[in-house]
Amino acid sequence: MTHFAGRVAIVTGAAQGIGAATAHLLAARGARVAVVDLDPEGAAATAARIVAEGGAATAVAADVTDADAVEAMVARTVQEYGQLDILVNNAGITRDNMLFKMPRADWDAVLSTNLTSIFLCCQAAQKVMVPARYGKIVNLSSRSALGNRGQVNYAAAKAGVQGLTATLALELGPFQINVNAVAPGYIATAMTAATAARVGSTAQEHQKLAAERTPLGRVGQPAEVASVIAFLASDDAAYVSGQTLYVNGGAR
Ligand code: NDP
Repeated sequence: MTHFAGRVAIVTGAAQGIGAATAHLLAARGARVAVVDLDPEGAAATAARIVAEGGAATAVAADVTDADAVEAMVARTVQEYGQLDILVNNAGITRDNMLFKMPRADWDAVLSTNLTSIFLCCQAAQKVMVPARYGKIVNLSSRSALGNRGQVNYAAAKAGVQGLTATLALELGPFQINVNAVAPGYIATAMTAATAARVGSTAQEHQKLAAERTPLGRVGQPAEVASVIAFLASDDAAYVSGQTLYVNGGAR
């Protein structure tokens, strides 16, 4: 499948997990991909694997909470590949705690990384997409946007992502830019493994509990989110904008 032949994508937080799976899939379908991450070595490793598989990718080390770094990330991508068609705002963190124990710094870090970063990346990317009259933006929300004990910061940020997505679909639609979000349930990644460790559980035990609460009876894999992101980033979803698509095995 070469859905993305001639297209250029930025995927943030692409050193591992859902971001890495998305970068691989977009590249396998013909996109040239800027693999962005806070971790330069992780970004380089993802890009190198894509190139080894015959794809086109370049690693860009950037902190997506830093406006100057975000501008530089977009400039570097356009310098390398001449255009920018797809932006996947995937970088995210958790700093879980009950309200009464949550330090202000953990509230700020989670809002900044999961929500403000998307504002910054969209603002930088639209400078290229609006004149081109083409763009696909896919933002990572979460099932936690509906409320999740111990995640007041993350739930607020991910609910904010849905509001941002609906609003930018209104603002950018006239320029033929689609803006959508995906809201994964429990996906087996380093993020959920770290959550397991924090509550004194192994990744396997934690996943087993999550699977029991999921109608499909198992947790999700990064590739199963990547395929939905790729759909929303493709012209197959040309008339879909402003939506949040839950990828959660039917879990509530
Ligand atoms: P991972 O922790 O596996 O990967 C996230 C990546 O984002 C890491 O490589 C991390 O780098 C990078 N990152 C963090 N902060 C920044 C930053 N400021 N600038 C650039 N890169 C950054 O996460 P997942 O793959 O599990 O999650 C991906 C997205 O999906 C996130 O937005 C997450 O909130 C969302 N999501 C995940 C779910 C899950 O169950 N896994 C469920 C619902 C939503 P480093 O390691 O160096 O910090």
